[in-house]
This record gives sequence, C-alpha cells and structure tokens, in this order.
Amino acid sequence: MSPKSRTERTFKLRPQPYRCPHCSWEFSLRKKKCCRGCGILLLIPTDNMSDQQLTALNSFWMWDPANERWKFIQNWEEHKRKAGATFDAYFSKVFSAATT
Ligand SMILES: [Zn+2]
Repeated sequence: MSPKSRTERTFKLRPQPYRCPHCSWEFSLRKKKCCRGCGILLLIPTDNMSDQQLTALNSFWMWDPANERWKFIQNWEEHKRKAGATFDAYFSKVFSAATT
C-alpha cells in the first residue's frame, strides 16, 4: 500500500457562505462580482482580482479571510499606502491563496 500523498491532505478552499453586508443576501457562488440583492461590489478571494483591476474600481467591499468579515475599501490607493510594506504579503494572501 502506498502512503497517502501530501497533496491529498492539503487544505482546499471550499466555497463558503457569505452574507452581503448591505442587504444580507446569502451566497457562496455568484457569477458576477456584485450582490444580486442590492448590486454592490463584493470581492472574495476566488475572484483573484489584480491590483490594476482594484485600482480601477477604487471603492468596494472585500472579504477579509483573516477576520472572516467584510471590509469596505473606500480608496484602494490609500488602503495600499496605509498597509505599506506588509501590503504585498497581505495582497497575495487574500487574493492568491485561494487559487493555489
Ligand atoms: Zn446586497
């Protein structure tokens, strides 16, 4: 018998239920990046947005997996400045971890 491979035991991100912070619509998967109830932008890690896309959006709700709650980003550029040197790590954790 062969031992179980490491990859089998690796944590996989499953779709988790989210609740819109604005209208309380519940979802785990959605086709558009918007709430179906009220239309606001709700970005989750699996959206895998690029920095460029986020810069274009500028203002949006973003799921914070570390705290398991929504975070409203009012100004992406300013948010990045505040995060400073730790931003790269934060960014890759939030937006890349889900796809690896
Ligand atoms: Zn909503």
